[in-house]
Amino acid sequence: MSSQQQANAAAAHRWREAIMPTYGTPAVELVSGSGCTVTDAEGKTYLDLLGGIAVAALGHAHSAVTSAVSEQIAKLGHVSNFYSHEPELRLAERLLQLAGVGDDGRVFFCNSGSEANEAAFKIARRTGRPGIVAADGGFHGRTLGSLALTGQPEKQRPFEPLPGGVSHVPFGDVAALDEAVDEHTAAIVLEPIQGEAGVIVPPEGYLRSAREIADRNGALLILDEVQTGIGRTGHWFAFQRYGIVPDVITLAKGLGGGLPLGACIGVGRAAFLLEAGQHATTFGGNPVCCAAALAVIDTIESEGLLEHVARLGKEIIAAVERLDHPAVREVRGAGLLLAVELNDDIAPAAVESARARGYLINPVRPDTLRLAPPLILDGQRANDFVRDLAEVLSEAAGGEGKN
Ligand SMILES: *Cc1c(COP(=O)(O)O)cnc(C)c1O
Repeated sequence: MSSQQQANAAAAHRWREAIMPTYGTPAVELVSGSGCTVTDAEGKTYLDLLGGIAVAALGHAHSAVTSAVSEQIAKLGHVSNFYSHEPELRLAERLLQLAGVGDDGRVFFCNSGSEANEAAFKIARRTGRPGIVAADGGFHGRTLGSLALTGQPEKQRPFEPLPGGVSHVPFGDVAALDEAVDEHTAAIVLEPIQGEAGVIVPPEGYLRSAREIADRNGALLILDEVQTGIGRTGHWFAFQRYGIVPDVITLAKGLGGGLPLGACIGVGRAAFLLEAGQHATTFGGNPVCCAAALAVIDTIESEGLLEHVARLGKEIIAAVERLDHPAVREVRGAGLLLAVELNDDIAPAAVESARARGYLINPVRPDTLRLAPPLILDGQRANDFVRDLAEVLSEAAGGEGKN
């Protein structure tokens, strides 16, 4: 075989020899991307339906992002927070306007979702109250503070003791939340839709109840929109579906369009709980990352992508339902954050089968496939995928022809 034919296997070998074993060894090495497709080291092209885990909002190598980044890096690449610069100021103003909080909000920029949640955690501590109530199954990151918020004991246990005071209640259960929150609660921390748990959509009214419970107890409502924010669900922010405003919003993933950028937005008193000298990060609000984020936001707006995302998400759900495939238990999600729950633990096999057919999808759980494609995905490619999904699932369920 030529070296190109063995390139993915060679990369897997080098990965095992050089990269810490925290991740599984990737089956393919990617070398380039354009729009919604990526190409591996063996020259095979895939439709990217994961988008770098809900990050590549405009797909790969979008000209709006590449030119914004190229221009900014050639002009001013990094200055630290001892100095201000236009991209950061403009992005902060833009985020406050999109969130509908205007003068009432303030932004802290950082570099990842975990860090955005660390900032939120520190804001909660600054209330002077000890308790935080988060949700079972929730995912907020892997740093120690964000891991303490994460409601997945198997991820937490190897790193105990974690920062204290955090309790977890079943997601979507208003009575349990009401019971857990009291005058000692600094904050309720929730994802509007639990992404890593398998795209779990709470019952209608849950977030409104969470808002009401927080208000009644004088606690903050912190919404982790790291995965759901910046257009992913067909709204700028998922909370906008429910007509509420949280006290703290955390963002990352799609914000930088592929560049590492996180943000923690405080609203009202939460905007001012972190005082001078109480929090900082060297790279936060880096000009290049902020320029990329502005390009993402401008493009979502100018190309009407919110409406597109809302419509296409509904079409994909309806099309998968129409397959009426025996392996499928449920299709759910909002906008282009979707899950196909299966009747058996065949998601890893389905991912392999899909990859062989030229699709990248994610086994978010052993029985659940997640789709978080670029927001620019077109209907034709989405249709092609759903058509091929029938075969993918039949193969994964134990051989073609069985269905
Ligand atoms: C991915 C994710 C995080 C963690 O973000 P990192 O950038 O990986 O640190 C936090 N919260 C949610 C909801 C996420 O999906």
